[in-house]
Amino acid sequence: MKVPLLDLTAQYAAIREELDEAVARVVRSQRFVLGPVVEACEEAFARYVGARHGIGVSSGTDALLLALMAEGIGPGDEVVTTPFSFFATAGVIARVGATPVFADVDPVTLNIDPARVAERITERTRAIIPVHLFGQMAEVAPIMEIAREHGITVIEDAAQAIGARHEDRRAGSVGDYGCFSFFPTKNLGGWGDGGLVVTSDAGRAERLRALRVHGEATRYHHRLVGGNFRLDALQAAVLLAKLPHLDGWTAARIANAALYTRLLGPAADRCGDRLQLPRVVTGHHVFNQYVIRVADRDRVRSELDAAGVGTAIYYPIPLHLQECFADLGYGPGDLPVSECATGRVLALPVFPELTEAQIRYVAQAISAGVGPGSPPATAATPASLPG
Ligand SMILES: *Cc1c(COP(=O)(O)O)cnc(C)c1O
Repeated sequence: MKVPLLDLTAQYAAIREELDEAVARVVRSQRFVLGPVVEACEEAFARYVGARHGIGVSSGTDALLLALMAEGIGPGDEVVTTPFSFFATAGVIARVGATPVFADVDPVTLNIDPARVAERITERTRAIIPVHLFGQMAEVAPIMEIAREHGITVIEDAAQAIGARHEDRRAGSVGDYGCFSFFPTKNLGGWGDGGLVVTSDAGRAERLRALRVHGEATRYHHRLVGGNFRLDALQAAVLLAKLPHLDGWTAARIANAALYTRLLGPAADRCGDRLQLPRVVTGHHVFNQYVIRVADRDRVRSELDAAGVGTAIYYPIPLHLQECFADLGYGPGDLPVSECATGRVLALPVFPELTEAQIRYVAQAISAGVGPGSPPATAATPASLPG
């Protein structure tokens, strides 16, 4: 059996006519840049997330970059974020000339720890970027409290968490900005790159809209220096057509995750902290990734590979130890929870169209492969083990 990490062909086959027709309508109209389809897409997503305004942009990375630009954040400013995320989260901070300040993550969720954030606030701090990693919301309420107390902006990196909820707020609707990516591997993927920023503040929405077209206030009048950060109409058409299916796909991801957790539970109990399963702590987790932690990760990964199971490592190097951030002065041991996680995390296939047989096959391969000797010969409770 082969189980790829992600296979988008089944999703396409299921709704092919809708998608092809949506794209064909844009082609027939020959309106490729902004216009009514992009506007409809922005409105639909803002409504879905629970924010007043949506601004379609060129990627998730550019969504984050534009939020920082709209706040006028630059040299001399500090932005607190997590060291355990995709590179873009910190890259954008450096790109506007500000300084990324890393606060370690919670050992259970691997999301930024509000207590560590509080320790990093200085009078130069202008923003906090929590990431809703793998599809589970970070603890944004305490982060909002810290931010309000110090007059700091909160930019949610919700690239992996569209539709995730905590206490009746959806990811992206709690902070001052919510940033989304439509990269094909996200829960809602376009046919290429795309992104969206949501905000409920009219002034911020206006700045974002201006910044994505070179800072134009009215045609050829530039109040700000922006760039070309537009969402393509073709992408908007695909995304609009896919949106009504999102909750169904998310439900399938959640069911797949629950089955893994049920099947892997006995092995996890047997292995203690040598095998850890994802834990749902903050509300409704949308499982963009199902990430286990294994002590002997690289061996388990190559065994899965030999068994035809695709996996990935999100993320092998914490951001504070990336070469390009060497001059920030961090060293090994500075953010131990993130550093430990990078050596153990392993993402399993969890996409909606997986079959139960495929999930059972993956779980079987992991249960057989974890720990030295499988099951461990030194198990303290052999009576409870089969055989
Ligand atoms: C994917 C991702 C991004 C960047 O999105 P792109 O659309 O690829 O630019 C940013 N942050 C996180 C956490 C992501 O997963």
